[in-house]
Amino acid sequence: MLNRSLANVLRTTKKHLSLLETLGVKNVKDFLMYFPRTYNDASEFTQIIDVRTDEINVIKGKLSNLFNMSTRTGVKITRGLFTDESGSIQVVWFNQPHLTKMLPRNKDIILSGKAKLSMGKISLQGPSYELISQNKEQIHTGRIVPVYHETEGINSKWMREKLKPLVDEWLELFEEYMPQEVLDEHKLIDYKTAIKNIHFPEDDAILDKAKERLSFDELFLLQLKVLQKKWHWQNISAEDAKKIERKDEIINELISGLSFELTNAQKKVINEILEDLKQPFPMSRLIQGDVGSGKTIVAAIAALNVIKNGFQVAIMAPTEILAKQHYQTFVKILTRFGLNIQFIAGSTSKGQKDDVVMQLKTGTCDIVIGTHSLIQDGIGFKNLGLAIIDEQHRFGVKQREVLKSYGSPHLLNMTATPIPRTLAITIYGDQDLSVIDEMPKGRQEILTKLVPESKRIEAYRWVEDQVNKGRQAFVICPLIDESDVLQVKSVLNEFAFLSEHIFPKLKLGLLHGKLKQEEKDQIMTDFKDNKINILVSTSVIEVGIDVPNATIMLIEGSERFGLSQLHQFRGRVGRGEHKSYCFLFTGNLSEEGTKRMKAMEMYSSGFKLSEIDLELRGPGEVYGVKQSGIPDLKMASLTDSKTIEKARGSAQKIINKDPLLKTYDKLAEKIAALQEIYVQD
Ligand code: ADP
Ligand code: MG
Repeated sequence: MLNRSLANVLRTTKKHLSLLETLGVKNVKDFLMYFPRTYNDASEFTQIIDVRTDEINVIKGKLSNLFNMSTRTGVKITRGLFTDESGSIQVVWFNQPHLTKMLPRNKDIILSGKAKLSMGKISLQGPSYELISQNKEQIHTGRIVPVYHETEGINSKWMREKLKPLVDEWLELFEEYMPQEVLDEHKLIDYKTAIKNIHFPEDDAILDKAKERLSFDELFLLQLKVLQKKWHWQNISAEDAKKIERKDEIINELISGLSFELTNAQKKVINEILEDLKQPFPMSRLIQGDVGSGKTIVAAIAALNVIKNGFQVAIMAPTEILAKQHYQTFVKILTRFGLNIQFIAGSTSKGQKDDVVMQLKTGTCDIVIGTHSLIQDGIGFKNLGLAIIDEQHRFGVKQREVLKSYGSPHLLNMTATPIPRTLAITIYGDQDLSVIDEMPKGRQEILTKLVPESKRIEAYRWVEDQVNKGRQAFVICPLIDESDVLQVKSVLNEFAFLSEHIFPKLKLGLLHGKLKQEEKDQIMTDFKDNKINILVSTSVIEVGIDVPNATIMLIEGSERFGLSQLHQFRGRVGRGEHKSYCFLFTGNLSEEGTKRMKAMEMYSSGFKLSEIDLELRGPGEVYGVKQSGIPDLKMASLTDSKTIEKARGSAQKIINKDPLLKTYDKLAEKIAALQEIYVQD
């Protein structure tokens, strides 16, 4: 019933119906779920004697002396006198001559509008009006008035007029679906009362309760969905379970052989992982750790522990270069434990690949490290115990699922894009979160400067000077728009300009998304080997590449990037012994843009920056969440940590009790209707 088309229930024009459709409103339910954007509190009447200029005044009184006139320029003006017990005020409307016919004289009506002072006289200009009848509820004035997102041709007044009767008529059909235990736990109001009061609240207190209830609902359903997903992943048969004991002795041997001391954060996360591995169900854990926080060694320790329990480990990275880098690190630190470590990527020959696959299937290979090649047809394992995905957000859900399908291994995801916890437990809610929130000792801060155009040449000379001292630099070109073509054009131009006019004596390299993978890898290798002094690149450079000798990150059009991305770029330098720098060039800066650039100068923590970004730009912008299928939140905010934690707590209780929601059929229906959540860039 609630999905009755509006065409059948609204008395309105085709045009209005199609306008509503552009707002995503097609049926009765959509319309009632089209929540106000904000509210005007017009519930208090102002006495005419107290009217303030340049403010909205809501007055109850009687109209008299209403007449139309025209100015010399043809503007039609309707004038009248409005009177209450405290006094009178002039009222003026422009180009609405029909009002003289519509508005009753000498009867109580309500006007709501701005008062203006002109030529020494105060008048109420273009107020909205509402007639008062004995048995009709006021909807435009004299109450807390809902204000909706409007579109050309549809304004809030129209919405209110159309919505009010719909709410009155259809509200009954909005069935409560929230379990009573949850309502009780958080003292939430019932669903109908919430819907009714979100549109036409009786007072502030009930409006707050309505907002609270509807925000909770959205977050709760999301949590229920992700926690159920996690339950499905972990609900495996006892034979499939891979219980992995802690081999502390051998782990300590590995740790004591390192050239550095683990940070407390690393130790804490290692402990969390080792405890997970002991469980009779697969781990589902995400490690968030800023660039350079030392995630690789954590992964290596987990891997060693799993292998010493007789299982295999697979490590997947998004690019061949990164995979190679991991391979080298793993060989370096794990070979002495007598492990067989193999590599597979696009460049691996068929013969070699077949050989590795054979080793994987027979169990002679302990660790395989590679790219997407690891999830292609034909790959298989004897007994995969742990799958590690580096930069998980670079992979699609489907790709991650493939890795999981090799016999329910423990799963460890890693990401260098730290996001606020509120967002993380929403979009990555099917995983437990570990955070490496501490950098290794002795890391130098990267000096970050917003460079004005007038200092550009000076900055280039400085870069040249550093290169002459042996260092290397990145230049990141602006993000033009979604179009790859423009992107490539801009980077080609920049490359040509810098090569010819600015750094004619230096060796420049060029990197962009349209190059073949082998070409990209070759350029990165040359850069690593210092055969290239300055690498001019689009944002493809982002992923965790390690070139310790690179000390300068110069970013063009910085304002076009989000803070997390800028921070990622910056993380490409400062990885070696030399002092490193990040120079931000910008186009015209908005106020928000200025705030973001200042934040870059001020903060070196990726978490801090991601919080600021979330505040300033919202989750859709920041993480491309909108494009990737997270349901639009109408009421709730992804920064509302209190409600998110509450929602997660309640959802977890329900899943613990009844994971398949057999006794909660209404909830099951609701979450089946939710889109799959995944994030991918
Ligand atoms: P990321 O978290 O970005 O993947 P890596 O694991 O690549 O970081 O570590 C970056 C560098 O820091 C590596 O050279 C690594 O050997 C080093 N490193 C890791 N942990 C520590 C530590 N506790 N103290 C000093 N250096 C460390
Ligand atoms: Mg890394």
